[in-house]
Amino acid sequence: MQYVNFGNTGAKVSRLGMGCMRLPSIEKDGKTLFDEEKGIAIIQRAYELGVNYFDTAPGYCDGVSEIILGKAVKKFRKDIYISTKNPIENASGDDFEKRFEKSLKKLDTDYIDFYHFWGIGLETYKNTICAKDGPLERVKKLKEQGIVRHISFSFHDKAENLLEILKQGEGVLESLLCQYNLLDRSNEAGMMTARKQGLGIVVMGPVGGGRLGQPSETISALLPTKSKSSTEIALRFVFSNPNVDIALSGMGSIEMVEENAAIASNTQPLSDEEKLHLEEQTKENERLSGLYCTGCKYCMPCPQNVNIPEIFTLMNYHRVYKLTDYARGEYAQIGKVDWRKYNNAAACVDCGLCEQKCPQKLPIREQLKETHKTLSENAG
Ligand code: SF4
Ligand code: SF4
Repeated sequence: MQYVNFGNTGAKVSRLGMGCMRLPSIEKDGKTLFDEEKGIAIIQRAYELGVNYFDTAPGYCDGVSEIILGKAVKKFRKDIYISTKNPIENASGDDFEKRFEKSLKKLDTDYIDFYHFWGIGLETYKNTICAKDGPLERVKKLKEQGIVRHISFSFHDKAENLLEILKQGEGVLESLLCQYNLLDRSNEAGMMTARKQGLGIVVMGPVGGGRLGQPSETISALLPTKSKSSTEIALRFVFSNPNVDIALSGMGSIEMVEENAAIASNTQPLSDEEKLHLEEQTKENERLSGLYCTGCKYCMPCPQNVNIPEIFTLMNYHRVYKLTDYARGEYAQIGKVDWRKYNNAAACVDCGLCEQKCPQKLPIREQLKETHKTLSENAG
């Protein structure tokens, strides 16, 4: 395993991080049951292979991810870093602390290494987190007491708002978790700024849930020379960015842990030739994606809670990258998992508000219908 200094936090972290959001489960009597024993074995295997950064959240795996992680790392707690998150439901410092206490209890630990404001955007940061006696003031107190070691945030907003959060949070925020992969490079500028400010940087979605782990000719064509699998291409890509410390991968089996750990241990930086080839291919793919939706989010919010750009991103995975199975799998998760808490395209009521705001002048309603037809469960 390769290790890096995690910004200015003083932590030395493994380049591969274990995301505990996809621990194995079974369906029984219409219910999803998480397999604690298997989950523990996967986490412990990751530790054996050198992973020392473990990421979870209160809602992952129907709320049991924190419990499973806590049990799995009990014997080597001091040798690893735990990252978990606080869903910022309101501006109340008391409520924030209650949620913190709950996580601490579920993880059965005395402290959290990296405690995140969860999935925030600029509005939440300014108006809720920074409110008087709100989450920020409380987390600073928790840090003074030593039960939170570092103040972190995970980001879900327009890329330009990341720069503003970093500006307002300079000197306080110590690590960033954001989306970054071959198919979504929108946070690159923000990551560069975060690096200059000394933050540790974790990226999610590099091989998330098999996204790039699935074979796709388009993806393989991105780096045809030395890489053997799409997973390898994906990890080599994120690791070649000097502003990435940890690639977080939601691993749901021992095989996945072993494959990712082997790649993370042997990864060589991209050669100049590979970089050039990748740039050219990426530009072409971006051009194709841009013909549809650029992900600018100006159409949001939708009164029916249809997340238009996210849904079109899935459609682009199918159209541009030919990752059709992945796109269908993710589309089926809409409304069912924490990171897709919105409605799918079928909820659109044709009000047309979004189309008035789209700079690309996309026929959003028509494309939503097409997307639903192509990606929904009954699609052939
Ligand atoms: S047309 Fe559909 S997607 Fe667009 S804002 Fe209205 S309900 Fe939402
Ligand atoms: S405004 Fe148009 S281009 Fe921008 S995210 Fe919405 S649909 Fe895509």
